[in-house]
Amino acid sequence: PKDQLKGYAPICLGLEDFYVRRLYLRIQDCFGRPIASAPDSWFDVVERCSNDNNKTLHRTEKTSRCLNLGSYNYLGFAAADEYCTPRVIQSLKEYSASTCSTRVEGGTTKLHVELEELVARFVGKEAAILFGMGYVTNSALIPCIIGKGGLIISDSLNHNSIVNGARGSGATVRVFQHNTPSHLEEVLREQIAEGQPRTHRPWKKIIVIVEGIYSMEGELCKLPEIIAVCKKYKAYTYLDEAHSIGAVGKSGRGVCELLGVDPADVDIMMGTFTKSFGSCGGYIAASKEIIQYLKFSCPAHLYATSMSPPAVQQVISAIKVILGEDGSSRGAQKLARIRENSNFFRSELQKMGFEVLGDNDSPVMPIMLYNPAKIPAFSRECLRQNVAVVTVAFPATPLLLARARICISASHTREDLIKALEVISKVGDLIGVKYFPAEPPKH
Ligand code: PMP
Repeated sequence: PKDQLKGYAPICLGLEDFYVRRLYLRIQDCFGRPIASAPDSWFDVVERCSNDNNKTLHRTEKTSRCLNLGSYNYLGFAAADEYCTPRVIQSLKEYSASTCSTRVEGGTTKLHVELEELVARFVGKEAAILFGMGYVTNSALIPCIIGKGGLIISDSLNHNSIVNGARGSGATVRVFQHNTPSHLEEVLREQIAEGQPRTHRPWKKIIVIVEGIYSMEGELCKLPEIIAVCKKYKAYTYLDEAHSIGAVGKSGRGVCELLGVDPADVDIMMGTFTKSFGSCGGYIAASKEIIQYLKFSCPAHLYATSMSPPAVQQVISAIKVILGEDGSSRGAQKLARIRENSNFFRSELQKMGFEVLGDNDSPVMPIMLYNPAKIPAFSRECLRQNVAVVTVAFPATPLLLARARICISASHTREDLIKALEVISKVGDLIGVKYFPAEPPKH
């Protein structure tokens, strides 16, 4: 009712983010407690343990152990590993935890060079460059490859690091409807004529930026269609594979492999080491010329301390396991396992009547809660039964599109997943977030 809106009326007109934030803080959970003061609903992790493949979290003050359904540990490498760990320890002894130098001032070890070559080979590009942080890879790199007079066309749900990089570049930024190639084409057509040569148009350069798997949607990029549009309008493509590299594709090479795209058709491939590889840092893979240019001009390469050597060694070892170059079939087993786990979990949630976003094979699966007031209850009730689930809401999602986001790992066992499904199902009934009729059990 209007009289209850009081000072918050502008939200109705969609005018001010500020009012939306204030309103969000005033929303109460299902039990009448303001969301902001429902501390038992949030992850209060004080300790993690890696000796069981990092799939559980300790909540030490209550000494409960939770099944971790929130980590990006897609292949289970964020854990002690028989191949990776001894090599990481050895690299720590040899190089220490930090080079204390930038890449160009003595901070390049043979491990950095080896990883750059390995990443380029893994993703199918000529060369690669490393960065100490995935976020910075986008936010510092984008301003390096485009500036004033350039045009960035960005998916509407791209990650904050891309948004910041695009804003900071000084280029004109246009947004196209999430994962909608026909709208991308519309936006491009507004700017240039089809087939117009790069030298005869109002923009110095046009770059289209998309993600391989969208982290809040669990959706695969419609990459083949996006590339077709980019080719038609002679725009460059920039693909962020943070959530897809290592996690999808027959040999873990990401969405290009999964969707049958030739990596040569993607101009710039970006990825992070913080998910499938169980480490930290990020990379850009591209042509030799682009990488050479970045090595001479990108401030985040020239002025930032190089990646920690043990972190570099962790990625080298993880990629070798994925490729079977450790002499075992563990990599192939991990890849098969994450696919089976993801597809099993997704289809079981759907059968229960949940609205689950995303595509098959994607290990990211958001369960729609919609009402932000349901977030604390969902998360708290799951935690009470020792299942840790990340909930995401405004400003990471639109105000009324709150969700719980499950991330599946190859290290989850079938028993883990069945237990989690039982808990999530009960919680879904309790707080009323099964929006579809459940499928009757098969006999
Ligand atoms: N890109 C995307 C799509 C991401 O989801 C993230 C973080 N989850 C990043 C970049 C930043 O990566 P990092 O956490 O490794 O800094």
